[in-house]
Amino acid sequence: MRNHDQLYINGAWVSSTGTDTIDVLDASTEEVMGHVPLGTAEDVDAAVAAARVAFDTWSLTPPADRANYLLAIQGALAARMDELAEVVTGEVGMPLGMSKMIQAGLPVGEFGNYAQMAKDFVFEEKIGNSIVVREPIGVVGCITPWNYPLYQIALKVAAAMAAGCTVVLKPSEVAPFNAFILAEAIHASGLPAGVFNLVSGLGPVVGEAIAAHPDVDMVSFTGSTRAGRRVMEVGAQTIKKIALELGGKSANILLDDLDDDAMAKAVGKGIGAAFMNSGQTCSALTRMLVPASRHDAVMDVAAQQLAGWTIGDPKTNAGRLGPVISDAQRTRVRGFIDKGIGEGATLVGGGSEQPDDLAQGYYVKPTIFANVTPDMTIAQEEIFGPVLVIMPYADDDDAVRIANSTPYGLSGGVTGADPERAQAIARRLRTGQVDVNGGGFNAIAPFGGYKQSGNGRERGRFGFEEFLEVKAMQL
Ligand code: NAD
Repeated sequence: MRNHDQLYINGAWVSSTGTDTIDVLDASTEEVMGHVPLGTAEDVDAAVAAARVAFDTWSLTPPADRANYLLAIQGALAARMDELAEVVTGEVGMPLGMSKMIQAGLPVGEFGNYAQMAKDFVFEEKIGNSIVVREPIGVVGCITPWNYPLYQIALKVAAAMAAGCTVVLKPSEVAPFNAFILAEAIHASGLPAGVFNLVSGLGPVVGEAIAAHPDVDMVSFTGSTRAGRRVMEVGAQTIKKIALELGGKSANILLDDLDDDAMAKAVGKGIGAAFMNSGQTCSALTRMLVPASRHDAVMDVAAQQLAGWTIGDPKTNAGRLGPVISDAQRTRVRGFIDKGIGEGATLVGGGSEQPDDLAQGYYVKPTIFANVTPDMTIAQEEIFGPVLVIMPYADDDDAVRIANSTPYGLSGGVTGADPERAQAIARRLRTGQVDVNGGGFNAIAPFGGYKQSGNGRERGRFGFEEFLEVKAMQL
């Protein structure tokens, strides 16, 4: 059992003012892994007060010194990489081999990336008779989701601290253990008291207390559009900056100039981009848009490829996919699959039943639908499970229209034989990222949403600048 009974506030482990705890479940066994404190609004008050005091000194600490603390944190985390991967595999259900790279490797890397950013960033410039300085925005409340839990935390916490901000973190209540490991690493690094504070708890209590708090200058939120809207409403009372990273329903356009082999490859890659982490990825390419004349052939290829998407125990890497995170998520995903069948989409493979050989664990069969039209629920709503929809389009304009026809605008893909044509179509997508011809992951490219996918950017320099205010001094 991994039980955490205290919160991390003002450089020390302290008891919550409440007495309740939150059980954390293992996604593949459904058993309790341990618990964390159910924090309160009073705990948030204490954490914000500590962060407020610490800000005065931390914001004036030279960036190179802040960078050294981040490197010390990175070192302490790196020493616990295997443990981190095991913990997140338990919490989230990602196969362990992938967890090591993605759930542990990426966040550890971010502490190094932002240490370098603190060292390299030019904090002031001259514009006419003004000196324009970039200053840390203040106390930042970080509210994070469960799908890449430590990575989402690192993108906020490392960037904010590198910028000179102090933070209060509320991790996802479904996958919080990794945040406690981070707090332990931070404590071991000797970071000054109050720069980083951790309050676990529920969104409507701890999350809203952070969003409402008059001494919090900014909230950086990643999660569902529903909760992000609420954070914005609550935060509006104090006019604080609210950066939102929300959901998606991203389109992957396969163009008609691909020959059959290239189309098959693109279909395979596209399925991977939809199913990664059992589809629990905000930027998952969950709508595959294909030329109407190629639709049936793509459907056949997809059916063959689907057979290779095995599911199994993530701890032994028994399948390419593990379970989804929770019973609630499994129920939700199955509901969408039933809805797709009910609305008349063609079920290529998968379905809403529990897989025969996996009675225990929150498993969902990887599922592909074809003949999906833009008006269907499964073409509009974020499912957040291993469900891909294949949609026919008439021509390039129609593909762009369909791609842009949801309230979301987070990510996308365009693959075609002519790179210039593919790039021209990518420019027409109303989304914050587009992978052109399978362009690879870039950890320092800006990431964030158009439309209801959010309003901020994370990663790299753009993610860093979110945490800076701008001051002009006229000379
Ligand atoms: P969620 O919205 O349920 O929870 C996210 C966080 O918000 C949690 O810490 C939760 O406790 C908190 N929260 C919930 N209600 C709140 C409230 N009223 N006030 C303040 N905080 C509240 O999301 P989730 O289920 O943890 O994560 C899945 C969602 O996150 C998906 O929609 C996914 O697309 C999105 N996501 C987006 C990105 C991105 O960068 N755009 C990245 C990862 C996940």
